[in-house]
Amino acid sequence: MDRVDLLINGAFRSTSRRFPLVNPTTGETVAEVCEAGADDVDDAVQAARAALAGPWGAMPVAERLRLLRAVADEVDRRRDAFLALEVRDTGKPVAFAGTVDIPRGAANFRAFADMLAGQHDEAYHQDTADGRGAVHVTQRRPVGVVGVICPWNLPLLLMTWKVAPALAAGNTVVVKPSEETPSTATLLGEVMRDVGVPDGVYNVVHGFGPGSAGEAIVQHADVDAITFTGESATGRAIMASCAADLKRVSFELGGKNPALVFADADLDEAVAGTVRSAFSNCGQICLCTERVYVERSVFDTFVAKLAAAADALVLGPPEGADTDMGPLVSAVHRDKVVSYLDLAVAEGAQVHAGGRVAEVAGFPGGFWVRPTVWTGLGQQARTVREEIFGPVCHVTPFDTEAEAVALANDTEYGLCAAVWTSDVRRAHRVGGAIDAGMVWVNTWYLRDLRTPFGGMKASGLGREGGHYSTEFYTELKNLCIKL
Ligand code: NAD
Repeated sequence: MDRVDLLINGAFRSTSRRFPLVNPTTGETVAEVCEAGADDVDDAVQAARAALAGPWGAMPVAERLRLLRAVADEVDRRRDAFLALEVRDTGKPVAFAGTVDIPRGAANFRAFADMLAGQHDEAYHQDTADGRGAVHVTQRRPVGVVGVICPWNLPLLLMTWKVAPALAAGNTVVVKPSEETPSTATLLGEVMRDVGVPDGVYNVVHGFGPGSAGEAIVQHADVDAITFTGESATGRAIMASCAADLKRVSFELGGKNPALVFADADLDEAVAGTVRSAFSNCGQICLCTERVYVERSVFDTFVAKLAAAADALVLGPPEGADTDMGPLVSAVHRDKVVSYLDLAVAEGAQVHAGGRVAEVAGFPGGFWVRPTVWTGLGQQARTVREEIFGPVCHVTPFDTEAEAVALANDTEYGLCAAVWTSDVRRAHRVGGAIDAGMVWVNTWYLRDLRTPFGGMKASGLGREGGHYSTEFYTELKNLCIKL
C-alpha cells in the first residue's frame, strides 16, 4: 500500500502514527498517511526559519522567481502523476481535475513569479528646515515563516494559490494539506527538490486540526502568519489561537452563495450557468451557488429547465468519458449532505431533481449523491441558511429588484454571487449592492489571478490575488535617511 510522507527540510519522513486514505470512488483504503506530531511540526518550522536566514533569504530575487517558474514547468511535465493522485484522493472527474486543478496549480507559480518580478521599492524626498532634506525608502520584506492550512476540495490549486505568492515574496512555508487529500502536497515536495528549491523552503506536515498538526502550526511561536482556507467555524478557532501572539491571518472561508436570475436574462444561459455554479465539482467549491432567486414571471420555466438539466447530469467514475459528476469526497461528507436532503424534506421543501444518494454501476462503495433542486422553503429554513457544500440548490421566486438584493444579502456569509441579466445598468446596480467579495454577471468562476479574491462577513478576512497577496505575504517598512 502507498504511504504519504511528511517533507521536512528537504527530506521525506515517515512517522509511526498513520491514518488511512480512502478513495471516494470505491470507499477503499488506498494509502496510509503519516501523521506529524508536535515535534515534527517544530522540526518543519525550524527548517523553514533556517532557510529564511540562509539560502532562500540570500538568494537574488530573479533566481528565486526563476525557480518558481521551473516548479510550474515541472508540475506541467508531471501532470499525469499529479492528476492520478488528485483524482485518487478526491474522486473528481479526470476531465475537471485535468483542466482546472492541475493546470491552475502550475499557473499559480507563473502568475506570482510574474507579479513579484514587477515589484519595486518606493522613495519619497522630503525637504527639511535645515535645508539638508531626507529621503524615505519604503521597502517590502517577507513576513517570515508562513503556516498554510488547506481544505480538500481543490487541493493542489488552493494550496499553491497560497504557497506561490508566499515563496515569491521570499517567505518559507509549512503546509498542512487536508487530511482527506494529502498526496499532491507531498508530490510537490519532489518537484521543489528536483528543480533546486533549497531544503526547508517548502515543508509539508500531515494530520488533522485540533490536537494534531493543524493546531501545532497555529500555536507555534515561530510561525509568523497563517493563511487558511476552510470552514468559517475553523477560521474562528484559528483566529482565537492566533490572538495569543498576534499572528497575522488571511482567511478564505465558507459561503452560502446566491444567484439572481432576472426575467430579462438569456434564460438558457442562466440555466446552464446555474448548473455549473451549483453542481461543478459536486457542489464542493466555496464559490458554488446554493441559493437561487428567480424573477416570478420566469420562475416555473427556470425551475423546470434547471431540474431537467440536473437530471441529465451523468454520475460516474472519474475516468468515465461522459462523467459529469464524481462522488463526494468522503463518507462523512456524504452523510452530512444526506442529512440536509432529509432536513430539506422535513422543512417542507419540494424536490424537483435528485434528493437522494446514487449508485454507480461497478462502484458500490462510492459516495455519490444526485444533483438536487428544491423549492418551497422560506429564508429561515436551515437548508437555505447553512452551507451544505454539496450538489444542491434551493430556488425562490422574487418580484422586485430590491427584494432580490435583500434576499441575496440575507445571510451571514458574503463570498460571491452570480447575477443573470441583459440590462447593463441593472448589472451595475445589483452587482454593487450585493454584499460579497466577488460578483459575476452572466458568468461564474471566471478568474483573473491579478484580481482580489476573498469574502465579506463570515466568508473571510483579507484578500488574496495579485498585489493583494503581496500585501499579506510582506511586511512594509519605511527607512528614513537624513541627508
Ligand atoms: P475545514 O475547516 O474542516 O478544514 C480545513 C483545514 O483546516 C484542514 O486542513 C483541517 O485539518 C484544518 N483544521 C481544522 N481545524 C483546525 C484547527 N483547529 N486548527 C488548525 N487547523 C485546523 O474545511 P474543509 O471541510 O476541509 O473545507 C471545506 C470548507 O472550506 C467549506 O466551508 C468551504 O466553503 C471552505 N472553502 C473556502 C474557500 C474560499 O476561498 N473562501 C475555498 C475552498 C473551500
